Amino acid sequence: MARFIFITGGVVSSLGKGLMAASLAALLQTRGYRVRIRKFDPYLNVDPGTMSPYQHGEVYVTDDGAETDLDLGHYERFTGVASRQSDNVTSGRIYKTIIERERRGDYLGATVQVIPHVTDAIKAFALAETDDVDFVLCEIGGTVGDIESLPFIEAIRQLKNELGRGNAISIHVTLVPYIAAAGELKTKPTQHSVRELAALGVQPDVLVCRCEQPLPPSERAKIALFCNVPETAVIPALDAKSIYAVPLQYHGEGLDSEVLRAFGITPSSAPDLSRWEEIVERLEHPEGEVTIGVVGKYVGLQDAYKSLNEALVHGGIANRVKVNIRWIDAELFEGDEAEIAAQLEPCHAILVPGAFGSRGAEGKIESVRFARERRVPYFGICFGMQMACVEGARDLAGIEHASSTEFGPTDEPVVGLITEWMSERGLEKRAADGDLGGTMRLGAYPAKLTGNSVVASVYGADEIEERHRHRYEVNTAYRERLEAGGLVFSGLSPDGMLPEIVERPDHPWFVGVQFHPELKSKPFDPHPLFASFIAAAVKQSRLV
Ligand code: GLN
Repeated sequence: MARFIFITGGVVSSLGKGLMAASLAALLQTRGYRVRIRKFDPYLNVDPGTMSPYQHGEVYVTDDGAETDLDLGHYERFTGVASRQSDNVTSGRIYKTIIERERRGDYLGATVQVIPHVTDAIKAFALAETDDVDFVLCEIGGTVGDIESLPFIEAIRQLKNELGRGNAISIHVTLVPYIAAAGELKTKPTQHSVRELAALGVQPDVLVCRCEQPLPPSERAKIALFCNVPETAVIPALDAKSIYAVPLQYHGEGLDSEVLRAFGITPSSAPDLSRWEEIVERLEHPEGEVTIGVVGKYVGLQDAYKSLNEALVHGGIANRVKVNIRWIDAELFEGDEAEIAAQLEPCHAILVPGAFGSRGAEGKIESVRFARERRVPYFGICFGMQMACVEGARDLAGIEHASSTEFGPTDEPVVGLITEWMSERGLEKRAADGDLGGTMRLGAYPAKLTGNSVVASVYGADEIEERHRHRYEVNTAYRERLEAGGLVFSGLSPDGMLPEIVERPDHPWFVGVQFHPELKSKPFDPHPLFASFIAAAVKQSRLV
């Protein structure tokens, strides 16, 4: 049976609980254990699919088509274990299920309540599909003390009791702030937060203390005393140079051995940390650097492009170079050629990532043109592929008014809606009802690659599977004209209906993909497209 590790956070948000969970899971893997990580989000949205990237950051998509919290991206990048729909649940989803059952009369007249109905649903979610792993890590979003996380804490309390000692532990992540005026680290917020958790019936087994200064032994002892844990179970967590240095840092502080101790497990062998040592080695000692211009919309909002940012770093790891990302706001330079050149000339390669809506679209089309004409490596992802096709249609295929129906009615819908997918998934009704959730082509789909294409050699395969999140598709009715303009359709859905990849064979590196390869890239297994793109940027950097 799987053992459970529940992870809560206290004092403030943004303490890096997700990274802690991902790092701990990675460390357990280095000791040969099989892991799965789950995220419970206490908010009332059914999933993050409809939430603004400004508020919530990227929506991470799983193979099975779930729109989930970006922490699942960290989990997958650190463990290599593909996340599933069943790894992320929100209060909204739980309440929706319960209310639907109640309306159907499934509760046979009983009063439906937070305890036991909501807590039972949370417990069932935590326990489901866990037979194939040794450890399940469950991270609770939010901060202890929030009203909305109460049912989750109560469910943990019950589960710790039901599963028994040795089968379930909890870790609380807190902050030990440094007060400059006093020149001291303060443990009181941690004490209060643990007291609050204890009042809800959950005594943490391990405390992870984020701090900006090293935690002296005296303060460690004080936290242990007041929070009722052994001194060794107080794990200091200083800021790391890179997120990929976090697992080794936690290992150095004894996190994984403390967790095993809390379960009563004596480790039989030393962990094999070589995978993480190699990544940190490459990140800390790059042999060069490149600058990638990312022309997007949510500039300054790193979380909105979390996976993309990481995949570019992974491409750097593959090529032993440091990747500097220059975030460029597409709206800034629309129609202003001098500004376009000023922004893009310092870049060794240009990437246009996924996006929704017309804002900034013309600026992105102009960056495609710049990359094509100046022979700078270009990578278009989802919206970036669609705009590469619009640019090709307008500038090389003579389709002056080429556009996407996403921007409004057009005579030349080079990019249009994918209604066929909606009917296949029985989604027309939801769309007609004005329900914005779930009307997209979501999750993993296969694609067939053309034999002697750039992408076939990059992947070293003729069939691939990648994750999607979009409503629109490049319209195959324009294929011949676009190909006459030099844009080759080198990847298609197996039925040949949907263009998945376009490329320009006459260009040093010009690839557009309808899917999101960044979602599957890992530091120890960089995505081949990102590795190849960064290699092209390295080549470009030697030319200029
Ligand atoms: N807005 C475009 C679509 O829905 C592209 C989406 C994306 O880039 N993820 O098809």
